[in-house]
Amino acid sequence: MSESTEPTGLVFNVQNYSVHDGPGIRVEFFMKGCPLSCEWCSNPEGISPAPEPAAYPDKCMGMAECGNCLKVCPSGALLFTADGFMGGIDRTACIACLACTKACLTGALTAWGKRYTVAEAMDIIRRDRVFFEKTGGGVTISGGEALLQPEFVRAVFEQCRAEGINTCLESALFIKQSLLDDVLPLTDLFIADIKTMDAEKHRVRCGVDNAPILANLRYLVAHDARLVIRTPVLKGFNATDAEIAAIGRFILEDLDNRVLQYQLLPYRQLGTEKYASLDQDYPMASFEGYDRAEWEPDIRHFLQMLQDMGINAVSGNNKKLDLG
Ligand code: SF4
Ligand code: SF4
Repeated sequence: MSESTEPTGLVFNVQNYSVHDGPGIRVEFFMKGCPLSCEWCSNPEGISPAPEPAAYPDKCMGMAECGNCLKVCPSGALLFTADGFMGGIDRTACIACLACTKACLTGALTAWGKRYTVAEAMDIIRRDRVFFEKTGGGVTISGGEALLQPEFVRAVFEQCRAEGINTCLESALFIKQSLLDDVLPLTDLFIADIKTMDAEKHRVRCGVDNAPILANLRYLVAHDARLVIRTPVLKGFNATDAEIAAIGRFILEDLDNRVLQYQLLPYRQLGTEKYASLDQDYPMASFEGYDRAEWEPDIRHFLQMLQDMGINAVSGNNKKLDLG
């Protein structure tokens, strides 16, 4: 019997009614796997390219009432408290078979990562077609890094194009340039970050060089892609005139200011419970914070500076986008 060659995608979240990543109301797929390791990442479950179990001990019924997980775990990786409740997973012993996540009925053990065929993804997308038509929305594929699974992205976008559904790709752009060639003709809008122009700082805080990302941004603009650029603004990292002005100059000089919108996103501490579910420490735990009273005037100041440079800069990711 021949196996199906239809591409599948490993997805850690599907969000309906998304309004932040592209125009209108959208269905958004978050693909698993990312080559970056930004310290402020709010989606740690998107970093690993493989499915992985998540533990929420507060939801455990206890061994006396249940114990299903213990019966199916082949590696003795489940940890229990002295009073008989699941207390986490020994990640050095876990082989990520996910048996416990299927056996657990309360959500105390769940899986990050579910595989979708293109047909399954399209069923989800088509259900929201009425919202797309009313709002100019569509589908966004994000991550993680969506282009680590290029066949799935291409197949979904091809189908969307055939059905007149708007397509948006959010990518970290730390990828081979050739991957962009495949999706360029199928993508109505690209969204990408510039976190800092400082190569060394980027390596230290995000784990990779920023040169390929900047080269891919130039490549997208040279190929007339519609582009939104974002910067997560963090105190102690890039919330200075010099940092933001350097990004502004790149947009003006290297990208010829051909960017639909440049969005400044003040850092907010999100996702800490997801780090705990993966038995990981939150890397920004010692961050002193950047509260609203501080970031609001900072962002206003940066916006004025960028607008004076002639850049269409906005605060946040929910301002109306005109794709023309
Ligand atoms: S994923 Fe598999 S190996 Fe890991 S804790 Fe669950 S049952 Fe055990
Ligand atoms: S299967 Fe779930 S609810 Fe039952 S003991 Fe294990 S973690 Fe607790």
